[in-house]
Amino acid sequence: MINVDVVIIGAGGSGLMCGATAGNLGRNVVIIDHAKKIGEKIRISGGGKCNFTNIYASPENYISQNPHFIKSALTQYSQWDFIKMVEKNNIEYYEKTLGQLFCKNSSQQIIDMLVKNCQDNSVKINMQTNIISVEKTSNGFIVNTDKGQYSCKSLVISCGGLSIPKIGATGLGYKIAKQFDIPVIPTSPALVPLTFNPEFLSAYKQLSGVSLNATVSTHNISFKEGLLFTHRGLSGPSILQISSYLKSGTHININLCPTINIEEFLLSEKQKGNNKKISSIIKNHMPQKLTEVIIKNLEFNSKLTETSNKDINLVATHINNWKVTPTDSEGYRTAEVTLGGVDTNYLSSKTMETKTIKGLYFIGEVVDVTGWLGGYNFQWAWSSGFVAGLNT
Ligand SMILES: Cc1cc2nc3c(=O)[nH]c(=O)nc-3n(C[C@H](O)[C@H](O)[C@H](O)COP(=O)(O)OP(=O)(O)OC[C@H]3O[C@@H](n4cnc5c(N)ncnc54)[C@H](O)[C@@H]3O)c2cc1C
Repeated sequence: MINVDVVIIGAGGSGLMCGATAGNLGRNVVIIDHAKKIGEKIRISGGGKCNFTNIYASPENYISQNPHFIKSALTQYSQWDFIKMVEKNNIEYYEKTLGQLFCKNSSQQIIDMLVKNCQDNSVKINMQTNIISVEKTSNGFIVNTDKGQYSCKSLVISCGGLSIPKIGATGLGYKIAKQFDIPVIPTSPALVPLTFNPEFLSAYKQLSGVSLNATVSTHNISFKEGLLFTHRGLSGPSILQISSYLKSGTHININLCPTINIEEFLLSEKQKGNNKKISSIIKNHMPQKLTEVIIKNLEFNSKLTETSNKDINLVATHINNWKVTPTDSEGYRTAEVTLGGVDTNYLSSKTMETKTIKGLYFIGEVVDVTGWLGGYNFQWAWSSGFVAGLNT
């Protein structure tokens, strides 16, 4: 039996941050993970450049049954604290768009920085170690693994959500929560491409690869970012963002040309006597292929002066307020995150310790806190990992 102060299950962003913080306070810490490599999600994130935080990160950018829960951790360890750490480690970064900070070189630099912080504080990281069971004792926990037994005063669960099982995601965190009678808010894939029925696909599949800026809305929330047509349906940042808010069977509204009111524009061109075909009038404002497909699907492409105002309205509605109902999403196979998770009502927002089991902590994606696309999810991993590390 190996006796330590803290066992952390999961060597992802939140677990590494927690380990380094607890180790820095003199705790004897071991991090256990079943995967081969440390921080795989960090490595593949942001197209290999890791969008490690967002300069605008605030509680409004997160989804949770309790929207106030994130406030304390984000205040105790903000995006500016993480940026300071990145700068101290001479990692070059840049703002890509909308406050999103990416490494200039490689996401591996973020992993190396976190691992070094752990090593500098004598934190052990045991990879390729499978958890067999977790037990509560009178003054702590016993963690049984296929490589030995650990006893600890504090047990931190940082084993993430269900997204991308191919690189090590499992439901272990939820299983441990249930073992200790801590409710789990039902989970679902989020930040995920949306799929559509065969009729939609046959009408739009020729557009696979076409991207544009669009405003995508549902239930009073909207995102103006890139949209990408794919052979399965729709993807791109605006679609991933809206997927986190989408209720099954409901439609989304898409404005394919948010900068122009197409109806007003076409009516004023008609008044001026513009005698070109509609497709050639609007093609300057949208990808030509998309314009052609919309016109083809609506089965008319008359000269503007010969087009009725009703048909102009039809075209404009299709462009400025296109209503589509996804059949589903691509699921956990490609989802960036998992919506739902460990019920925050059972956790202290200041420490991430459970209110019912002393010494048991949940951090990162396993908790019912889901960020928008754009560096917010890593910021949650850093913030929740840090506050748990301070308190273990
Ligand atoms: C493709 C992709 C790109 C992303 N890009 C970004 C981005 O650029 N910016 C951003 O903010 N967010 C991004 N995210 C989301 C971000 O990666 C997660 O929110 C974040 O990694 C969560 O950190 P975590 O520590 O909670 O969990 P994870 O990083 O998932 O770490 C969990 C760890 O636990 C281990 N584990 C799981 N089950 C077990 C088990 N049974 N036994 C032992 N160990 C186990 C795993 O191997 C893993 O190492 C992206 C996600 C994906 C999938």
